[in-house]
Amino acid sequence: MNRKAAFPGSFDPPTSGHVNIIHRAASIFDELVVVIAENRQKKYLFSAEERASMVRELVKNRENVTVTICDCLIVDYLKKMDINLLVRGVRGVEDFTYEFELSMMNRTLDPQIETIFMTTDPEYFVLRSSSIKELASFNGNLHGMVPPLVAKALKDKYDKN
Ligand code: ADP
Repeated sequence: MNRKAAFPGSFDPPTSGHVNIIHRAASIFDELVVVIAENRQKKYLFSAEERASMVRELVKNRENVTVTICDCLIVDYLKKMDINLLVRGVRGVEDFTYEFELSMMNRTLDPQIETIFMTTDPEYFVLRSSSIKELASFNGNLHGMVPPLVAKALKDKYDKN
């Protein structure tokens, strides 16, 4: 049986915490699809294409990981892709409260969807895309928080703005 799972998120930008979850999930499932969310209501620093190309570069050595962009409801997208396993990362209780509600909502929309929560590794548990963007905007040191290519992309973005 081919176990295919999706890991959806904003990845604005992808952090070392995201990459850690991707690698761990890719070792559990036969195939992992990283789904980059494109939500018109949200304001992103990086375009969906920029986020997808960063993630693609970061996972290029993992044959069973693919990266796609979704601009619709995730449950509709998963149905279209014939995937019913959804992976989400959890950094702590606050994340869990939000993630739990989201999983309830998704199961209400589609009872076939199973959400699998993966706890963060302790070294990544303070990493949050929003705080990384703030740090980057003040030219802070991002070493270890994001892969070097993401640190460069952040620098380029803030140098331009
Ligand atoms: P979203 O807008 O969907 O929350 P994010 O890119 O912020 O998108 O997060 C995508 C997923 O990755 C979420 O499940 C989030 O909890 C998880 N995640 C984010 N940062 C980390 C981290 N440092 N460790 C583990 N999981 C994380």
